[in-house]
Amino acid sequence: MVWRHLWRSAAVVAVVLVVDAVPGSAQRLTWLGVPSGAFTSDAVAVSVDGRVVVGGSPTEMHAYRWRADSGWQDLGIPPAGYRAPIAVGGMSADGRVVVGWVKDSNLTTHAFRWVEGSGIQFLGDLGCGWSEAYAVSADGRVIVGRTGARIIKPIPGGVDTLCVIRAFRWMGGRMEDLDTLPGYPDASTAQYIAGDVSADGSVVGTAEDLVRPQERIVVRAFRWVAGQGMHELGMLPGYSWSEAYLVSSDGRIIYGVARDTSSGSVRIVRWVDGQVQQIQDLSDSLVPNGGIMQDVSADGRIVVGYTYGRTGRYAFRWVEGQGMENLNITYASLLTDGSVLLGATAISPDGRFIVGRGYNASSGRHEAFLLDVCPGGDSDSDYICDDWERNGIDINNDGTVDLDLPRLGARVGVRDIFVEYDAMQGFAPSQAAINAVVGAFANAPGNPPFALHVQNGGDLSVPTATWNDPPWGDLDGFKRQFFGTPAERNSPNWQNIRRARQEVFRYCVFAQQYDTAGSSGIGELPGNDFAVTLGHPGWVQWQNTLQQQLQPLPQLTWDNVVAGTFMHELGHTLGLRHGGDTHTQYKPNYHSVMNYLWQTPQPAYAGSWVLDYSRGVFNTLNETNLSEPVGIGGGGVHAGHSVPLRGVRNAAGNPVFVLEVGPADFDGDGNATGVGVVQDLNGDSRRRVLGGYDDWANVDLSHGPNWTDGVHIILRRTSPREDKELQELKPPPQVQSVQEDTTELEEELQELTYEIYQELSSTNMPPDTVEVLEPGDGAVVTTAHPQFVLRAQDAEGDTLRFLISLRRAGDTTAMRQWWTGFVSAGASASFTVPDTLALTDGEWRYMVLAMDWKTGMSWWNTPRRLVVQTTGVEETFGPRAVLLAQNVPNPFATSTTIRFVLPQWSHVKLTVVDVLGREVATLVDGELRAGEHTVVFSAVDLPSGVYFYRMQAGAVVQLRKMEVVR
Ligand SMILES: [Zn+2]
Repeated sequence: MVWRHLWRSAAVVAVVLVVDAVPGSAQRLTWLGVPSGAFTSDAVAVSVDGRVVVGGSPTEMHAYRWRADSGWQDLGIPPAGYRAPIAVGGMSADGRVVVGWVKDSNLTTHAFRWVEGSGIQFLGDLGCGWSEAYAVSADGRVIVGRTGARIIKPIPGGVDTLCVIRAFRWMGGRMEDLDTLPGYPDASTAQYIAGDVSADGSVVGTAEDLVRPQERIVVRAFRWVAGQGMHELGMLPGYSWSEAYLVSSDGRIIYGVARDTSSGSVRIVRWVDGQVQQIQDLSDSLVPNGGIMQDVSADGRIVVGYTYGRTGRYAFRWVEGQGMENLNITYASLLTDGSVLLGATAISPDGRFIVGRGYNASSGRHEAFLLDVCPGGDSDSDYICDDWERNGIDINNDGTVDLDLPRLGARVGVRDIFVEYDAMQGFAPSQAAINAVVGAFANAPGNPPFALHVQNGGDLSVPTATWNDPPWGDLDGFKRQFFGTPAERNSPNWQNIRRARQEVFRYCVFAQQYDTAGSSGIGELPGNDFAVTLGHPGWVQWQNTLQQQLQPLPQLTWDNVVAGTFMHELGHTLGLRHGGDTHTQYKPNYHSVMNYLWQTPQPAYAGSWVLDYSRGVFNTLNETNLSEPVGIGGGGVHAGHSVPLRGVRNAAGNPVFVLEVGPADFDGDGNATGVGVVQDLNGDSRRRVLGGYDDWANVDLSHGPNWTDGVHIILRRTSPREDKELQELKPPPQVQSVQEDTTELEEELQELTYEIYQELSSTNMPPDTVEVLEPGDGAVVTTAHPQFVLRAQDAEGDTLRFLISLRRAGDTTAMRQWWTGFVSAGASASFTVPDTLALTDGEWRYMVLAMDWKTGMSWWNTPRRLVVQTTGVEETFGPRAVLLAQNVPNPFATSTTIRFVLPQWSHVKLTVVDVLGREVATLVDGELRAGEHTVVFSAVDLPSGVYFYRMQAGAVVQLRKMEVVR
């Protein structure tokens, strides 16, 4: 969380405040209070249903999760043996997976994920002992961040292994190096940082390096796609630098910034389908203090963050086509007590919920907030806003109703679900089949009642076509062409109508077929798109059989096959699985069209078929301890119904059926008196506890059409097996850290940030300029302790301090950060690099941040360069000395490995000499970065005997002996 803030701090969202308040709607603002024992709280991410928020207590430095029903919960992060501070990078759409990083006792960072029910697991790294996770995909499966990666680089005379900073993608227990950007000036050693991940697992981020010999910093935004690798996102014309931070769910829209390093000009840009465009109303006019883009909605149309205006810092929302809003003005009616929304940190995928941090006037504290922006609220919890149900949707607030929802049947007080369907020729459902499903929803238990509205989209004679498997791409293409009615698509207002429809309509295609096995359909889980595919020859033959039967059982009709399949696939989009909350199939105590036993009427027990989701009326069945007299325990409509036990055969080898109410012959022995019976009832070859499930009580409308359009998501559930795999992951190795000086400072920075944050005043203005008077950009100094002369202005004359942050690109051992003492606004003051942070020889770049006691921040946005060239060895090396290790193996016959460690970027000459001092091989002669290096020396053409290897690194010379024996 904190790191993310700092990183994005480098991204100045320069904004003009253009505020047009949307006329007052009854939205809701919830202050989330603080975790027990904490003084303040923060929010980093929000689930799609607005019921889960992950954040932290800045004062406690722990990760917490807030839930609407139970408040703040300490996630146990950092775990025992690890230490604060921690950083939370993100959360899955369902709120069950949280990612971030913690530090170990050596202050080394370790990326983690936390899974509800499983706790924290470490993700490992790529060979250099550290990693940080910054974002997680909506389904919780894909985690991205950066890590130290050990790479092998050929050099003259052997190979060099070194640690570089790489973007990673973690999925299924494996961390993947996203590799390098083709065409990048120094691709192998550039730093890569993954900033965000789309719902379908593509990654966006930034590569940067100091490129020699031109001595310029090259920064490039990239996108990585599985199977295609990394490619550069285009540069805004006239600009020389690009960074990418945020990506839409479908990966098509990416937000970042472009900079012109010579003029210092910064522009907000986005890439849409690979085309870069400047966003005028986010970046046209620069304000000195900038702001930060924090999150983007799933459709890529809404960005939230914070920026500064005349009245100080505020939370903003930018909407495509509508521009910037100060949330304090838009939602002024929710802030009448003097509370202030200081920053928006995250937005739910559908744009309905915004979380962030602000000043809660009633508690007198800075707290996390949850803002529900649904117009008129959502009193019936169908994720269709009340005002829309009353007045229709005016998606762009231009006074024209784009979708007349009341006319389509929406009502406040009813859980409305809208589905549009189109069909390929010959596959249109009968009205009777559709009506049956509508009737099932009308008869459903629960309050508010459900109302399913199924609209014929009017495109019912599209030629048949067999789709690919999986069919999502085909379905998306079909939807792009046929979504909406023909009349709507011909309307000049179609673009707005389409967006309004996307807020509420699920989409179904009655298609021919997508796989050769004859699947009956497919549905997103959860989501909005589904298909019924009953065109396989096997289904067609079944249809003919049913239609030719003269006196079929009343349930045994083709309409019921269609209706059951439609309701089954629709059920997936509402979050239902084949076993309710699990994918366990064929449970006899789960009577639902979601269960393959009941999706369509089967001849052997068609009399028991009902078109319905389950109502939770059955017993839990423990397959290792079943009671036949107790049975399945259903009631109501299930009296007299029988169900097959898929895993049981009787003595004659025939299937066994049991009644859903009353005693049940679970073992098929002809009587229903046994207790403690062990039996595999559902035929999955396992003995376990089969839970019933109440579908209707768990129908999830939150994963609505408005965020999954064009994205195909299956939210994860952690199975016991997955849990076991997670527990078997190794804890991170206890690596000796070489970053202590910088990480401690980082920590101090965070503590300070928090400490001052608490005092944050909404009326405070941050410092508005930061000037580096000395040294000049690109200056060459001959001391390890150069002097910085800094000056900052502050309109309110607040006392200031600076954070000076230096680093060498790609070299984590060379970072230096420290806070200066306090100075007066407008006064120039000089600061010398402290002894503990002496700069090593080489090129550095640095930024300066000024902060006043009320916490306005201001980065020096254009990094400056500083070249350190000390003469002689001024540093006291101690543990940071040049190390030349004994070669391994030794003695050796053909080849051996020589390892050495450099404390700083050095010119290294490594040679092999014989006992007479004659040079017989030169293994290295050139500039090497700090860290560990390995060289393989081949001695095949040298005679047996004693040799020496000699290394000169800067002013340090070391010599060791080795022996060739044959
Ligand atoms: Zn299914």
